[in-house]
Amino acid sequence: MPHESRNPLTRLDPNAPLVLDTRALGRQPGSSREENLSVPAPEDFGVEMVGVPAGAAIELDIRFEAVLEGVLVTGTATVPLEGECARCLDPIASTFEADFQELFVYDDTRSGGNAGDDELRLEGDLIDLEPVLRDAVVLALPLSPLCRDDCPGLCPDCGARLADQPDHRHDDAVDPRWAALQGLEGDTPAGSDRGNGSNGSRGTADRRERRQEG
Ligand SMILES: [Zn+2]
Ligand SMILES: [Zn+2]
Repeated sequence: MPHESRNPLTRLDPNAPLVLDTRALGRQPGSSREENLSVPAPEDFGVEMVGVPAGAAIELDIRFEAVLEGVLVTGTATVPLEGECARCLDPIASTFEADFQELFVYDDTRSGGNAGDDELRLEGDLIDLEPVLRDAVVLALPLSPLCRDDCPGLCPDCGARLADQPDHRHDDAVDPRWAALQGLEGDTPAGSDRGNGSNGSRGTADRRERRQEG
């Protein structure tokens, strides 16, 4: 999806939190300016299991430098993260810090031929920092975040939290939950429970089924 900031027409909303005005910097190469900003995070600022809550404060430490072809933006973004451990599904809350650097090219100094399509451009004095932050933060987030590196996760049979029960194990080959499922499937005329490959456990399931009914 082409981002609006790559459109040569001025489309940026100067009031959008991540649209920054560089007018105070001027265009004299070599001039620089530092800013500390706190801006609300946009929607969908994250990956499936972890991200920055919409509206949460993104702390920006930014340095703007005027160079010949545009404005070089260097900085650090500090964001709060919320998510779920990929193994035990416990909530995760932490802070993430990401460095970024991006050159925004003046929109009036290139005749169009030199600028690549993926080059970010100023629109007038405005820059849109959102795609830069997305690259720096969202692309760096783990797809499988963990509450701790050695999180033992959940019991694959019953879903118990193994961190709470280090000695957790099942003596019985058939977990009660499976038995309940088998009981349900037994009620359907299709009798699709063969797919479970329950070797010899059918008797157990039947017993439990009767117990449920009684
Ligand atoms: Zn965990
Ligand atoms: Zn278990």
